[in-house]
Amino acid sequence: MNLARFPRRRYTPNATPIEPMPHLSAHLGGPELWIKRDDLLGLSGGGNKTRKLEFLVAAALAQGADTLVTVGAVQSNHCRLTLSAAVREGMKCRLILEERVPGSYHADASGNNLLFDLLGVESVTVVPAGTDLAAAMQAQLDDLAASGRKGYAIVGGGSNPLGALGYVACAEELLGQSFEMGVAFDHIVVASGSAGTHAGLLVGLTATNAGIPLTGINVRRPQAEQEGNVHKLAEATAEFAGLKSGISRDSVVALDRWVGPGYSIPTAEMVEAVRLLASTEGVLLDPVYTGKAMAGLIGLVREGHFKPTDRVLFVHTGGAPVLFAYRDVLAA
Ligand SMILES: *Cc1c(COP(=O)(O)O)cnc(C)c1O
Repeated sequence: MNLARFPRRRYTPNATPIEPMPHLSAHLGGPELWIKRDDLLGLSGGGNKTRKLEFLVAAALAQGADTLVTVGAVQSNHCRLTLSAAVREGMKCRLILEERVPGSYHADASGNNLLFDLLGVESVTVVPAGTDLAAAMQAQLDDLAASGRKGYAIVGGGSNPLGALGYVACAEELLGQSFEMGVAFDHIVVASGSAGTHAGLLVGLTATNAGIPLTGINVRRPQAEQEGNVHKLAEATAEFAGLKSGISRDSVVALDRWVGPGYSIPTAEMVEAVRLLASTEGVLLDPVYTGKAMAGLIGLVREGHFKPTDRVLFVHTGGAPVLFAYRDVLAA
């Protein structure tokens, strides 16, 4: 596998830090917990979509596109970062927001909705849950073409094989850091949503024969359904990246016990995790993804899932700008 063969824009100058979390580890009386700070990736506010966009936007530019079109939930980090990449590249951006929770979109909300406005979004189209999102994006592409412009559609979360390459690269990056630091990790834990992050990491860890089990914590779907999604995307990404071997179904683990009542709906465990990370390590999680993923990691520690001597790496995928839209849920 040779990722240098794929055109790539660069939005983060260096590797994101890997830091120990001694206070959290002591608080839980558990294994040695570490964190990969992908919340510090480049573009406005950071987060995992930045890595995917490095490859996706390079493809858009290669095709001569002048406008990025994408889709996400009402407080989508992916939409914020796609818009930010468009600004960086001198492109326009149109967003389609899916109201997964009816009545949840408020144009004047804080968090990412404010940032869509600040970053100069060209248009925001709100559609109900269950809308054919591919068709909604195609309608935008057709509309752009009718006025002599060229749009490039990016799937939700940037989770196709090209976008997932960003997390194949992240696996290579973190293994290099692990080697330089002389710190070998026994487990990696990450949030699992539209699956590109989980699938990309899995492909990178498989391709390098790293031997580190990866556990996804779901934010939306039941375990079997999410594992199927991750496996399918990982197989497609492996083939796209030129990996000879496949991805074993057994290596895909996506636990659903911390989803709660549904996507983006708060849980007590999420609130505990967000408050605990802030007050022990000064790390800001988010209510929709990393708060639930960290709740999963904390839950696994308490269940005795890890050995006391294990080193466990949590991949922080970002999302802190959404905190400000959840004040009522998170405040003490
Ligand atoms: C999108 C997102 C995720 C989930 O990543 P996927 O690649 O969609 O599975 C996790 N954390 C944050 C903050 C996100 O915005």
